[in-house]
Parts: sequence; structure tokens; C-alpha cells
Amino acid sequence: MSKPVLIVGGGPAGLAAAHSLATVGKECVLVEKEDRLGGAPILSGYAKLVPTGEWAKDAIGGMVKRVEDEAAVKIVTGAKVDSFDGTPGNFTAKLSNGDSVDAEAVIMCSGFTHFDSVNKPEWGFGTYEDVVTTTQVEQMISSGNGVRCPSDGRKPNRVAILLCVGSRDRQIGREWCSKICCTVSSNIAMEIREELPDCHVYIYYMDIRTFGLYETKYYWKSQEEFKVKYIKARIAEVTSDGEKLIVKGEDTLVKRPITIPFDMVVHAVGMDPNVENPEIAETFGIDLETHGYIDVANRYGSIGATSRPGVYVAGSATGPETIDDSITQGHAAAMAVLSGTKELKSA
Ligand SMILES: Cc1cc2nc3c(=O)[nH]c(=O)nc-3n(C[C@H](O)[C@H](O)[C@H](O)COP(=O)(O)OP(=O)(O)OC[C@H]3O[C@@H](n4cnc5c(N)ncnc54)[C@H](O)[C@@H]3O)c2cc1C
Ligand code: SF4
Repeated sequence: MSKPVLIVGGGPAGLAAAHSLATVGKECVLVEKEDRLGGAPILSGYAKLVPTGEWAKDAIGGMVKRVEDEAAVKIVTGAKVDSFDGTPGNFTAKLSNGDSVDAEAVIMCSGFTHFDSVNKPEWGFGTYEDVVTTTQVEQMISSGNGVRCPSDGRKPNRVAILLCVGSRDRQIGREWCSKICCTVSSNIAMEIREELPDCHVYIYYMDIRTFGLYETKYYWKSQEEFKVKYIKARIAEVTSDGEKLIVKGEDTLVKRPITIPFDMVVHAVGMDPNVENPEIAETFGIDLETHGYIDVANRYGSIGATSRPGVYVAGSATGPETIDDSITQGHAAAMAVLSGTKELKSA
């Protein structure tokens, strides 16, 4: 009898992989370290998703429900893989809850870690209460409480969103572009303007990367319909005069210094490699690429193959990815597992 497929991580990528396999009757065991499924969009309380505008709790919540209803998927939450051994078709994983899983193949969908803004101290996070992250603003919106200054609960009149916080920053060892934060920030800016029409929202950027079709739907729409202002700038620091936050830097288009007061400053945080990746790489015997994400060994043949045969990877575990691309990769890795199984049988 064939063994199930072990899927590590129950975010969009893992949920997609589990659904694909279950659809063709292939059993799988989905191991998630947190006590609920859904990955970052659910665990971090995202609001309306880019690009559909659907609430994360409905869109990703729907994916969770679909997998929970699949008889072919065994879900194990609150557990991690402690040890892993074997060969393709014949792996054994020991879980932190004492269970043991015999698996034919593995799909790593262990995702990313949000950049911790305290690693960019000159931009005020951790020093001033009203310097927050995009994740916190998503939570303010999804909770239904609206966007408010954490220090005293007032409605902000002026909000600055700083892009590329923890991305494209060689000084702090993060060279990569996190792909989605420009678009997410344009979306958040429009949501703030919708809720608080008197609030002025400024986006400070190095470059705007609202890639593909997002240019029309987010970049131009946010300016033309929602009057969000974009300033090309190099930000030096965020301080306070005791009443307002002060954003200091240089407007790089007119080459002039800027010192501008705000009620709230939002860091558009990037997507770091999962902080557990060194441990995951060692447990599973797989390679990481130079930035610390899980290395993809084959991008054109066996989609999502890692350096270890029989162990596949999908989603933001491989680098910054959007939800739709993570889902696509989850489905593709499931397909790669099925073709790998076929090859094993015919060998
Ligand atoms: C502020 C912000 C807003 C965003 N908004 C959007 C948006 O609107 N639209 C969009 O397309 N993208 C958005 N993204 C990107 C989106 O978060 C990712 O594309 C998506 O979460 C990737 O899904 P994933 O399944 O690969 O990883 P994750 O969502 O990170 O899921 C990984 C899962 O694996 C679990 N896990 C981790 N390590 C282990 C382990 N060792 N053992 C077991 N389980 C483990 C985690 O707990 C988690 O549940 C946003 C990103 C940020 C930072
Ligand atoms: S998507 Fe935009 S904000 Fe995010 S890292 Fe790339 S350029 Fe910076």
C-alpha cells in the first residue's frame, strides 16, 4: 500500500498542495506548528487581499475549510518534525508530539517570517508607539476597529507609509525585493483614505514595483481616485517633536532635504526567510540558497524539487512570493510528487 505525502506548513501553499493531492485520492498528513491553519494571512490577521479585494478570513478561510473537509487529509496542528530519515517512497518523520509519520514524499510549505522592524531602529519602530507595520494596519482594518494611532486611539490626520523596510537594504543583509509590499501599501493607503477621507496619506519609495496588472489597479487608482501622494525619497530617520512624528530624509527627485510631521508612520515590512530554515534544512537534509530561503533545485522539470530527492518545496519558503503564486506552486509540487511516485513504481 502506498504511503501518504507529508506536507509541512498549513499556509496557502500547503493548503493548495493538500487539496490537489486529496482531489486525486492521494492521502496526506499536513503538519502545522501553530494551533490553526491558514498561514500568514490568517495567523497575522490580514484584511482585504491583493488583488481580489476578498477578506483573508473568507478567501484563505475557505481554503482551510476545504482541506479540513477532505477525508484524505490528516491534519496535525501544534507540531513540528523533529527528525527525518529514509529514501524516496520510504521516509519516516518523527513529530514533536511523539507521533511518527511514514511518508512517500514531502512538500515543504514552511513559508516566511515577517521582517522585524526593530532591526531598522533609525525608522522609529519600537521607540514610538505610532510607528507601526503594514501587518498591524492590516489587523486594525480586519478587526473592524479602524486605523487609529496606538498611543491614544485618535484618528490620524497624516500617515506616511515607508516602503522597502527590511527589503532591498544591503546594510542589514536583505538584498531581495519582497515583491508584494508596494501593492499591499497602495491598497492599505486606499483603505485608509476610504475610512478616513480627511486623512492625508503619503507613500515614500525608492522605486514602485506594482508589477504586471497591479499598476492600473493600485498605483494609478490610488493616486487618481484616492489622492494618495507618492514621494521618491531616501528616508534617514523617524523622530518625534513630542507631539508629532517627524520623517526626515531627502526628496531624491528635487534633491532637497525633507522634514515632515505625521501622526502615524507605517513600515511596509518585507518577507524574511523563515527564521527556522537552518533547523529545517538540517532536519530534512536540504540546501538553502544564499539568502537563507529553501533552494529550488529544478525550476523547469520537476517543479519544486529540492536538493534531496523526494523532498519538494512550494510557496514563500523558496523566496518572497504572492499568495496566488504560492498556491500555484503548492499545486505544482503536488503534481511533481505524483509524477515522482509514478517513476518510482515503474523503476
Ligand atoms: C503585510 C503583508 C501583507 C500581504 N498581503 C498579501 C496580499 O494581499 N496578497 C498576496 O498575494 N500576498 C500578500 N502577502 C504575501 C503572503 O503573506 C504570502 O504570499 C503567503 O503567506 C505565502 O504563503 P505560504 O503558504 O508560502 O507561507 P505562510 O503563509 O508563511 O505559511 C507557512 C505556514 O507554515 C507554518 N510553519 C512554518 N514553519 C514550520 C515548521 N517548522 N513546521 C510546521 N509548520 C511550519 C507556519 O506556521 C505557517 O502556517 C503579504 C505579505 C505581507 C508581509
Ligand atoms: S515590492 Fe516595493 S516595497 Fe516591497 S521590497 Fe519591492 S520595491 Fe520595496
